[in-house]
Amino acid sequence: MTTLDDLPIRADLRGRTPYGAPQKQVPVALNVNENTHPVPEDVAHDIVARLASAILTINRYPDREFGELRDRLAGYLGHGLTRDQIWAANGSNEVLQQILQAFGGPGRSVLGFPPTYSMHAIIASGTGTRWIDGTRDAGYDISPETAVREIERTRPDLVFFCSPNNPTGTPVSLETIAAAYDATDGIVVVDEAYAEFIPADQPTALTLLEGRDRLLVSRTMSKAFAFAGARLGYLAAHSAVTDALRLVRLPYHLSALTQAAAIAALAHADEMLAMVDDIKGQRDRIIVELERLGYAPVPSWSNFVLFGGVDDPHALFEALLERGVIIRDIGIEGHLRVSAGTEAETTAFLEAIAAVGRTPVAAKLNG
Ligand SMILES: *Cc1c(COP(=O)(O)O)cnc(C)c1O
Repeated sequence: MTTLDDLPIRADLRGRTPYGAPQKQVPVALNVNENTHPVPEDVAHDIVARLASAILTINRYPDREFGELRDRLAGYLGHGLTRDQIWAANGSNEVLQQILQAFGGPGRSVLGFPPTYSMHAIIASGTGTRWIDGTRDAGYDISPETAVREIERTRPDLVFFCSPNNPTGTPVSLETIAAAYDATDGIVVVDEAYAEFIPADQPTALTLLEGRDRLLVSRTMSKAFAFAGARLGYLAAHSAVTDALRLVRLPYHLSALTQAAAIAALAHADEMLAMVDDIKGQRDRIIVELERLGYAPVPSWSNFVLFGGVDDPHALFEALLERGVIIRDIGIEGHLRVSAGTEAETTAFLEAIAAVGRTPVAAKLNG
């Protein structure tokens, strides 16, 4: 029987493992940082109406430049951004892939700061871009000095920041991003997938774009916007950057249905984002309760919490799964990550982990 190893696959892909967050049917799924609140019904009806109208002309290729969608995304982001500074693709993962196709690739390198979003290294690998592990400070911080030191040490073609960072929930300061930009001639990417969950009075890297033509800020509708299944990620940057991405994107990469659905959802941005404050409240509740149970949650600006103090992460993961709650083992020693769900889901998680704490998990699983 033929296996992957028998195929003439690229040498640099041999032995690699694909992205593999488990997709299990579990009553309480808090493992991939989705917004677990459903789309409001009136918004759903409006999306369906838009889709129905798009279907009538689906015999034609879609607007290759997705102009109306880019206008809507620019309007949503604000900061004086205009259509020509916006790009979009099927999830921000595809945006990141296009960035590496255009600015990375064989012979080029990208510096990232683990622990960080596992897809960054996987997309680097897929595009033949060498991934370099940077070093963080204590508390998962990256000071301006540390960022500059790592850039000078490794001389990468691109630098990836993730802020707030997945899986730690910690932000990267604007001072660090600005210092990193000044320390390189390369592309600096800030993955802001969780931007809507940061404290309301805090600026994002969008405020740094003016005058920084090599700075790219990526966003997604997958998390705060409750639109993960639709696959819509986007980017704000200098218009020349979007010209670069046009060189590598597939023609008509955003289907007419995707464009219609996203335009309809953006018209209801307030309603789609109505649950963000609630989710932030559940996140803060998780932090308080986990601390009370003797765990060590990391302060979070996102919709999830990384927590330490777990003797046996695999055993705790399995014990929660047995109770119908799935969270995420991200491979950090002594830690697990949980997404903030609805109030009921969060309660289910907290009750399950409290109950597990009272049973000798390790003893039970060791026989
Ligand atoms: C979830 C997540 C994304 C989202 O990817 P999409 O392809 O837009 O669904 C991007 N970056 C980070 C850091 C994430 O955690």
